[in-house]
Formats: sequence, C-alpha cells, structure tokens
Amino acid sequence: MIKKLINKLLGKPEGTATPLGKRVEITAEEHRIDPALLDERGVKVVKGLTDAGFEAYIVGGAVRDLLLGRRPKDFDVATDATPEQVKNQFRRAFIIGRRFRIVHVVYGRGREHEVIEVSTFRALLKEDDAEQVQGNEKTSKSALDGKSHVVDASGRVLRDNVWGPQIEDAARRDFTVNAMYYDPQRELVVDYHGGLADARKKVLRMIGDPETRYREDPVRILRAVRFAAKLGFTIEPKTRAPIVAMGPLLANVPLSRMFDEMIKLLQTGHALASIEELRKQGLARGVFPILDAVLDKDGALPDNVHGKFVRLALEDTDKRVAEGRSVAPSFMLACMLWGEVQQRWQRLIDGGEGAVPALQQAIDLVFDARVGDISGRGKLAADMREIWMMQPRFERRTGSGPHRLIEQPRYRAGFDFLALRAEAGEIDPALADWWEDFALGSEDDAARCSISARDAAPDRSAQQAQGGRRTGAFGAARFGGGRQRAGGAGGR
Ligand code: ATP
Ligand code: MG
Repeated sequence: MIKKLINKLLGKPEGTATPLGKRVEITAEEHRIDPALLDERGVKVVKGLTDAGFEAYIVGGAVRDLLLGRRPKDFDVATDATPEQVKNQFRRAFIIGRRFRIVHVVYGRGREHEVIEVSTFRALLKEDDAEQVQGNEKTSKSALDGKSHVVDASGRVLRDNVWGPQIEDAARRDFTVNAMYYDPQRELVVDYHGGLADARKKVLRMIGDPETRYREDPVRILRAVRFAAKLGFTIEPKTRAPIVAMGPLLANVPLSRMFDEMIKLLQTGHALASIEELRKQGLARGVFPILDAVLDKDGALPDNVHGKFVRLALEDTDKRVAEGRSVAPSFMLACMLWGEVQQRWQRLIDGGEGAVPALQQAIDLVFDARVGDISGRGKLAADMREIWMMQPRFERRTGSGPHRLIEQPRYRAGFDFLALRAEAGEIDPALADWWEDFALGSEDDAARCSISARDAAPDRSAQQAQGGRRTGAFGAARFGGGRQRAGGAGGR
C-alpha cells in the first residue's frame, strides 16, 4: 500500500498489476448458450451451493466452449464457499491439492464416474504481498508454511490459496475467453474482461501484462499454444510477443506438470496443429524431450518412415478424440518414441546382444533419456513397454505363440501399433493382415491360419497383400464383432 503510494508520488507507473476489469452481465438473448450442452451434474453442483446460500457458477473452459457451441469435456465450478464448506455440501467430495486447493465432487462409480472440480474464488496476486522464495521449493518449506502467496525467484507462483471476490478471481485467470462465469439457473454469463467479444472474434488474449503472467506461470505459454491449436484462435499480438523470450522459463516447471501439458497438447484432438503451433512459436524443440526425439531440426515431422508413423499415430489419435472415443497416452507415447527405441535396439543387436534383451535395454535407455523419473506413472510406462515388447512376437506365427499373444490383455493395443507400422510402410502389411484374420477368426479358423503360416510361409504375403485387408473374413469373431468393434473404446 505504502509502496504504491510512494510510487504514485514519484510518478512511477503502476507497473504490471493485472487490471480488475468490470462486471458485465450478459443475458441468454445475447450469449445464446444452448442449455442442451450443459452437464446435469455440473448444474447440480451449482444448485447445491446456491441453495446453501453461496455464490456458484460454471467457469472457465466450459463457458468458453458453450459460447462456441461446443459440448465441454468437463465442467468446473467456482464459488465463494471455502473448500471445507464445499466438502460439507456433498456426499462424495474430496479436498485435493496443496499448491492450489480445490474440491472434487464425484458422481457415479467406476469407468462412468464424473468429477466436477470446484474451486474457491481466489484473490488477485498482488506484487507486494507475495513472499519470494530464493532457491527451490523444498528448501523453503518454512516460508511456504508461513504465507499463502509464494513465488520463486523468477516470479513463478508456488502456492496460492488466498480467497477473494469474484472480480479478483476473474483477473487471475489466464485468457479473457477463459475468465467467464455462467449461472445456469438465471442463464447469465458474467464477463469482466471482454471474453465474449474475444470468443466471437476467435482471439486468445492474456488478461493483464502477458510477460508478467507468463513469469507467474510459464505453463501459460503452452496453454496459449494448445488453445490456439484446439480452438483455431489467433494469439493476439501482445500475448504472442513475449512467448519466445519467456520460453526458457519452462525449464523451471516441474517435470510432471510438463509431462501432463505435453499429453494435453497431443490429445486435444488437434495434435498435429499443436505441433505446428509450437513450431511457429519456436517451441517445438528443446522444450519436451519426447518431441525432440521425433521432430527434425526445423521442428517438423521428418519425411521418412518414422515421421510417417508418428503422423499416422497422431492423426489416428485426433480421429478418436473427434469420435468421442478414449485415447490412451501410453499408446500415443509408444508411437512417438518407437523410432528411437528401434535405433537403439538395432545398435545393441549389432553389438552382439540377443534380440529380446536388446529390446529391453533399448527401452530402458529411451525411458532414461526421454521420460525421466515421473513417479506415479508406473502403469503408463508398463503399458508402453508391453506394446513394444509385443512387436517382435508378431513375427512368430507358428506354434502356440500366436494363441498366447492374442490372450494378452494389451493385445489390441499391440496389434493397433503393428497395423500402424504396416500402414507407415515400416513392415509388410501382410503381417498385420495375418494377425487381424487370426484374431478375428474362430478357434478353428485360427488353427487353420497357423497351419497355413507354417506351410505356405514364403508366398503368403504376396497372396494376402493382393487381397487387401479382409475385415472379419473368418466369420464368427473372437472379439465379438468386426474390426471396428474389436478396436473400439474397449480396445486400448
Ligand atoms: P480445457 O478445455 O482444455 O479443459 P480449460 O480452459 O477448462 O480448458 P483447465 O486447465 O481445465 O482449462 O482450467 C480451467 C480454468 O482454470 C481455465 O479456463 C482458466 O480460467 C483457469 N486456469 C487453468 N490453468 C490456469 C493457469 N495456468 N493460469 C491461469 N488460469 C488458469
Ligand atoms: Mg477444463
């Protein structure tokens, strides 16, 4: 306060404080949100909180998507109730997070469950009240416990749990289109920063001073790239300008958050557009080790079999997202790193190692070089390893091997991977066709298949390549239907 007053007396500029904006209420007539796009549970959470006397709104990306006429993939709620008060309102609600405490309200069980994320309105981070931490987060534990706004030496916010009014909550969100609130009961959009106008213009504009906002949280750089690619928005010039210079700050972001962001970039349903946008912003290389393994020095997919394979994998991922099917990060990442696994595998074989141990070692080396230590991702790494380890097993088509292979729980992912390799021209398409028929056929047909592989081995590829892919040619399907169904949502 005093510092501000002195600055004012000395004629110093207000600096880079984020503007609060002005509350504007937009009625249904103007915003034209289609209530059919709303999620029943999201609305239920809002109603539960308002019935209890709190303010509550659908917020952020969901409002943006509703305004664009898209069905949001998840619904977040913002409220003036504290996390404890929110938790008390719902039967299954859990307070999570330390850096940023929020509540997960959970509906349903198992695969069908849905989580509505509820966050309490946060106060605007003011330059003067943030405690600065020199050194890293761990060594500054005492400082972290003492204050709720904590930033590191580069201005990155480490902890942020001070509640405030909605107007401040809006100002601390990233882009104008992400800072709107929707009251589903009164059908009102609350907009403080011209988000509606920007949504109509398809412009991504940072609230406040972009450089300061990137310093607070460098991940916003990647979010800008992701939203531009996903929504087809242009990044407004002032928002774009500091991106290249701020890029190096991404090195301070914890590895696991970077990993999550990379997966989001590649699973937005616009993976290739995201890579292209990264390239445009000079971030395609040197930011994500996994992309470094794939992209050439210009940040593009190379014009060879590896590049083609990754392109096909990403196109397939985009297609699945568009169709509302599940996409497994393990499959996509296994595709991204396959080229490098193969190179290292070959080198080890050339050095005299046996094929299977060489593949194991190559995988270990690639994990070390490109994935690093991301604790809590054992399953993801195990799935990737399994997909890769299955590949040489597809070469053996005699004896009981094929039967054992198709009984594997991850067989479908392994086969889809093989099919993509075939499509990219890395292997003979006849091999993928053979497995497709083998798995789709009945037990009898499968037995016939395995005999024909043994007896007619040299000629079968030519013969099958001619016939093309025979979808479900063997009638009764082992996986309960044609390829479409077997490879559907349950597949990977
Ligand atoms: P998506 O459709 O990808 O989920 P989203 O906008 O909903 O996009 P989330 O990561 O789910 O993105 O975040 C929800 C909201 O929280 C955002 O719309 C934004 O208002 C706010 N937010 C999230 N991350 C940040 C951030 N790093 N800085 C500022 N605000 C953020
Ligand atoms: Mg969201």
